[in-house]
Amino acid sequence: MTLSYVCHGAAREVTGSCHLVECEGHRILVDCGMFQGDRDTEAANAEPFGFDPSSIDALLLTHAHLDHCGRIPRLVRQGFHGRILATSATRELVRVVLLDAASLQAEDAAHARRTDRNDVALAAPLYDLDDALHALDFFEPGIGYDQPIQVVPGIVARFLDAGHILGSASILLDVQVGEAHRSVVFSGDLGNPGRPLLRDPMPAPAADYVVMECTYGDRPHRSLPDSVQELFQAIRETARRHGNVVIPTFALERAQELLYYIHQGLRGGAIPAHVRVFLDSPMAISATEIFRRHPECFDRAFLDTLHHGDPFAMEGLHFTRSSSESMAINNIDGGAVILAGSGMCNGGRVRHHLKHNLWRERSSVVFVGYAADGTLARRIIDGAASVRVFNEDIPVRAQVWTINGFSAHADRPALLAWLGELPREQVLLVHGEYGRGMHSFAQILASRGRPPLMPQRGERITLL
Ligand code: ZN
Repeated sequence: MTLSYVCHGAAREVTGSCHLVECEGHRILVDCGMFQGDRDTEAANAEPFGFDPSSIDALLLTHAHLDHCGRIPRLVRQGFHGRILATSATRELVRVVLLDAASLQAEDAAHARRTDRNDVALAAPLYDLDDALHALDFFEPGIGYDQPIQVVPGIVARFLDAGHILGSASILLDVQVGEAHRSVVFSGDLGNPGRPLLRDPMPAPAADYVVMECTYGDRPHRSLPDSVQELFQAIRETARRHGNVVIPTFALERAQELLYYIHQGLRGGAIPAHVRVFLDSPMAISATEIFRRHPECFDRAFLDTLHHGDPFAMEGLHFTRSSSESMAINNIDGGAVILAGSGMCNGGRVRHHLKHNLWRERSSVVFVGYAADGTLARRIIDGAASVRVFNEDIPVRAQVWTINGFSAHADRPALLAWLGELPREQVLLVHGEYGRGMHSFAQILASRGRPPLMPQRGERITLL
């Protein structure tokens, strides 16, 4: 056996991405993400990696989402001292994401100690701020798209635009073993084509093996133009009755996309001109600033629209970084659109805005992203009559909108289009819930004569 692959995270599940490629004594990792979800799922973050971190030569990072990069400081803490390669934009976003993750873990641990809960051990931080800063030292200067780069002798990597979030990439590995050659492509997370800010994902390159995500392998998404119109409608109707719109939002990509749509709506008259827009999330503000620094990642059409006005500097848009600015928003009676994190409302400033607006019939809460079971967002979406926010029962009287078409993940048709009709590869499915996206997508591939493998965590697959 000279070339093998082991999935150490996101095997038949959607978080914790971590893929190990071994070739003639070299070891390369693709992603090292955090497991996210219920307690059982997250407990895996504290378990051993399944390999010796100090034996890894290089880590290639597909993108800056926490479930792809969140365990890197822990990897470094446990002895990793190799190279870390990522695109320039990913490198900048990762800094914000890992520092935020370290401080959130410190907060959680302090909260567990204060409340004397018996899960103090479970809330123990995986790493601290120093670990996160130390991990950033291992990142090499940013890699450009489609530039071949030798990772170790015999293995060349190429980062290809995955169109998922700023800087996101699929990664193609060309491996030379003596006279033999094999290629393996890792999809990373794939975006939906036709989105406004980023380019469409580059189709899968010809490769012997394709390790691909299948999060939404079981369904098509709702159309984007319909979703945008519904967003405008929600803002318009709420403004008409002098209420506020609260949009719980994810900091990377979603916030920037929403600002773009709101800018379009204001420019075209679909949103009344007097509406004031607040981006009330320090992380989303940092991500937006990073976004503006990376026009090399923009879609051509977006570059053109920038000539008609900058959606991140539009009139009426306020970036509220300090907590006093954030609190001042609570005094606004109507006509405000407030974008705040977290997307699932289980933390962050959005909870303050929910506390001030959920009980008001005139206001609206607009959900534009995924809400896991057990989160505050899920309870509101499911129609709870009242919810608990900061130890207070708040009646839900605001209008609740759930708009599903803004997903940053490729749906089933887009996944199939990315894969194309290449004849010679073996597909390995990862990053999908086994009983949902993965199983359903596997059936489709099998019906087309390409039954995929669905590796289990830790299962070794020989590629050569
Ligand atoms: Zn992602």
